[in-house]
Amino acid sequence: MSKQPDQPTQYLQIAVPTPLRRLFTYQANTPISQQHIGCRVWVPFGRRKLLAVIATDPSSHKPNGVKLKTIENLVDEQPLWPDELWAMLNWAAQYYQHALGDVLSTAMPALLRQGKAAEYPSQLVWSLSSEGQSVNLDDLNRAPRQRAIMQALQETELNDSALREQFPGSSEVIKKLLEKNWLSRHEQKGQAAIQQGEGEAGPALNAEQAVAVTAVTKSPGHYATYLLEGVTGSGKTEVYLHCIEACVRRGQQALILIPEIGLTPQMIQRFSKRLDCRMGVLHSGLGDSERLHTWLAARAGELDVVLGTRSAIFTAMKNIGLIIVDEEHDASYKQQDSFRYSARDLAIWRASHNRCPIVLGSATPSLESLSNAEQGRYQLLTLKQRAGNAKPPQLKLLDMRSQPIDEGLSHRLLQVMKTHLDKNQQVLLFLNRRGFSPTLMCHDCGWIAHCPRCETNMTYHHRDKRLRCHHCGSERRAELTCGECQSENLLNIGAGTERIESALQQRFNDVEVIRIDRDTTRRKGSLENLLKKVQHGQRQILIGTQMLAKGHHFPNVTMVGIIDADQGLHSPEFRAPERMAQLILQVAGRAGRAEQPGEVYIQTHHPDHPQVLTLIQSGYPEFARQLLAERKEVGLPPYTAMAIFRAEAVDRQSPQDFLQQIRQCLAPLANNQIQLYGAMPAPMEKRAGRFRAQLIVQASNRATLQAFLASGLSQIENLKANKVRWSLDVDPIDTY
Ligand code: ADP
Ligand code: ZN
Ligand code: ZN
Repeated sequence: MSKQPDQPTQYLQIAVPTPLRRLFTYQANTPISQQHIGCRVWVPFGRRKLLAVIATDPSSHKPNGVKLKTIENLVDEQPLWPDELWAMLNWAAQYYQHALGDVLSTAMPALLRQGKAAEYPSQLVWSLSSEGQSVNLDDLNRAPRQRAIMQALQETELNDSALREQFPGSSEVIKKLLEKNWLSRHEQKGQAAIQQGEGEAGPALNAEQAVAVTAVTKSPGHYATYLLEGVTGSGKTEVYLHCIEACVRRGQQALILIPEIGLTPQMIQRFSKRLDCRMGVLHSGLGDSERLHTWLAARAGELDVVLGTRSAIFTAMKNIGLIIVDEEHDASYKQQDSFRYSARDLAIWRASHNRCPIVLGSATPSLESLSNAEQGRYQLLTLKQRAGNAKPPQLKLLDMRSQPIDEGLSHRLLQVMKTHLDKNQQVLLFLNRRGFSPTLMCHDCGWIAHCPRCETNMTYHHRDKRLRCHHCGSERRAELTCGECQSENLLNIGAGTERIESALQQRFNDVEVIRIDRDTTRRKGSLENLLKKVQHGQRQILIGTQMLAKGHHFPNVTMVGIIDADQGLHSPEFRAPERMAQLILQVAGRAGRAEQPGEVYIQTHHPDHPQVLTLIQSGYPEFARQLLAERKEVGLPPYTAMAIFRAEAVDRQSPQDFLQQIRQCLAPLANNQIQLYGAMPAPMEKRAGRFRAQLIVQASNRATLQAFLASGLSQIENLKANKVRWSLDVDPIDTY
């Protein structure tokens, strides 16, 4: 910036996107006022130039003894965030002990992070030039990539991101076509993912639903958290829709958060059918320019409803009147790297700051939320009946001990499946493990195909005969002979979805088998296509991972089989039983959602396990009550607050040594409200070629934890980490 006459130099505190938990002082030679807090600036940082944000009032006092760099230019005239969101982001940086600059950067749509102007973006649109239109495609048979692009553009013009998505890696081809003068391009105002709803009428609310809607809508302008606990199919979504309508009618905006996988297409469709308002959708499939457009439209108040996954909590809203978090227990609300926030918890803070109601909905609420409801911090609303005519499914245990088992399926399960299929109904099988088999073993010497970079087996994928590590993604061609003794006698031990699929295809050769997991849904739109097939289908078997478990409405599924309920029983992770129960009930909830009643069969080798029995016989609320009692007794969250320092490096020792140093910084600050566990190796010590260790901090409550971490971190940041990468996770959802 050029210096203007008579303008005293100003000193600014800047939030720079680095891991360092502090602000950096820069000087500015042009006038900057309090109104610029929250505006982006380009600053020199080390040898780089970074996009940062003005964090505080300018001051005319020069800090002592330091040579300051000058900000290069101011990107925004207006702050990016409204005050309330700015407040939330600052709070989040403190609560999660994360650098403000990095928090702000995470909270921006990608194009803003790159320094693009905060205005509706325009897009490059490609079409055929008049010369291109007269090209005969058959002349291009020897240049198939050129031909494909020309053919696509003959049908319709395409914006740049669509073209590059349809034809990845085709920059060179496009360049050639441009040189031939066959393409033309122009700028067009970008599209937001905005839908105008149709306002179709829904069913009349039943008594329980009406009570819930009245509670949430009766006092607008007041903060309260409502925990809407309703079995799957009890009509929670109807409750949301009514609350949203009331909010929009008052002229306010509603923010709806949904979990990451699967739910999006169906949920969007249902919302846009029912709501008569302007709706914006933010999900991972969106292009950068659509995302920015939607974000800006919400900020300008041009949207009534914003629906999105985790990061939608960072949407700027002009006049927020309601927040809904669907499936509030879902792990996808917690970001698992760098800025490890919980979108659900931020949503509660945001509602309270904005004095608006927030609804947390789930059939299987998290133990955190249940305990908050128990202590009167949240208001519990329950839906006990399934809506309409649907009956709750019956859960039955299938004792697998000493039963004949065929590729993981007991004969009893196969029999029941047949009776449902014979009635032209659908059967859904759930197994949370993709691939063909989780272990490839030598029958002669016991050798096992391991991941070279992790402490784990490689999963065998039969279709492409490859071994893949599901933890780090490394892969190789599957060996045909043993890595130790060269024997050809290799066994596939255990079953994943791919193996079950092929076993079912052989056994039920006149029934369509549909597999839904990450391997069959990699291509864009493929999940939607499979779901559509299922919704309109009869007499099908669906086999899938948790992608199948969540949220979907499959009217013709009358039987659900859980192939392995024991996965969660033997985990060192203290949340594993809670997760297992939530997943089982989510899957079970897919059965009998329409007219026909549903049956759920759960295969287990531990039919007498007390937790399994409580869940089956007494249901989730009782199961959760018992788990809470256990957590209380041993002092685990939600009865204590937890944070984990994690460290990793290419050698085994240095992560533990580094965490030991952190422990030495923290120990003198601790009192009897604080407990430190570690440093110790992580449960899965080696992953992706790095060794991992952890140090757990437990405090009697969140406030104590906060104060403790804050006082320790300034010292910890001065430690020399050398080749160790470390991070801090506040309120971790797993202890790996
Ligand atoms: P949830 O979100 O709790 O799983 P949904 O809101 O999806 O439940 O409702 C399940 C099914 O019941 C949907 O098909 C929905 O249209 C229907 N439904 C919901 N509420 C009612 C009602 N009051 N009367 C009749 N049908 C209803
Ligand atoms: Zn061998
Ligand atoms: Zn691996």
